[in-house]
Amino acid sequence: MKVFISADIEGCAGVTSWKETILGETEHFKAAEQMTLEVKAVCETLLENGVDEIVVKDAHDSGKNILFDMLPKNVKIIRQWLGSPYSMVQGLDATFDAAIFIGYHSAASMTGNPLSHTMNTIINKMMLNDMICSEYLLHTYAAASLGVPVIMLSGDKMICDWAESFNEGVVTAPMKEGIGDGVISLNRADALDMLKDRTKQALANIDNCHVTLPDRFDVSISYNTHMSALRASYYPGVKRIDAYKVSFTSESVLDMLTTRMFII
Ligand SMILES: [Zn+2]
Repeated sequence: MKVFISADIEGCAGVTSWKETILGETEHFKAAEQMTLEVKAVCETLLENGVDEIVVKDAHDSGKNILFDMLPKNVKIIRQWLGSPYSMVQGLDATFDAAIFIGYHSAASMTGNPLSHTMNTIINKMMLNDMICSEYLLHTYAAASLGVPVIMLSGDKMICDWAESFNEGVVTAPMKEGIGDGVISLNRADALDMLKDRTKQALANIDNCHVTLPDRFDVSISYNTHMSALRASYYPGVKRIDAYKVSFTSESVLDMLTTRMFII
């Protein structure tokens, strides 16, 4: 069995400030270590339970957060960026049996994480078919377009709750709860235990995680500055709704992700 892991950092246990997420900042090391251990715990559990091939995408910012020398054998890692609109799941293809998202976070406009955002902090809200659009939703559709179910999500409690309401088959592992600028987080040992436990549950539940793709994707995006909205409005198919907001419609996941890639 072959599993793809997409790993972000803002939803990992303990992480609470932007400085902790930026490669080169002194505070980054501890967060990167936590992200690494969370991914490692999931990889080891997968390998102990019948998975023989794992590819991990380091999907945060620089793409160079995971301390890759700590990953177990039979795990490959994709570092930096391959330029694909599949973004945080780039490298995924139809040969994978399942995908797992680690360290994911609440979307822009949601209060569940001090670092809530969707793809980039130049926007404050993205809507997709009347749902607040998170990175979880974007990449669950990306995976679904390749026939791959997302079977597990770890991150802040609010994105975990949202994912369960969207897809009742997905197994979640809430690492922390965000309130204002702070988090109430599990400690490392309990976080890793929960990830191991939920990984086993998720493997037993693969068949219940398929999502149906909509026929069309109606997207609107609110930017922090009118300049960003103006600039985005020049992309083919993108309309300016007001000073700060644009919208577009796509008929396929790939078209939607491609437009997203150029305007956020
Ligand atoms: Zn991130």
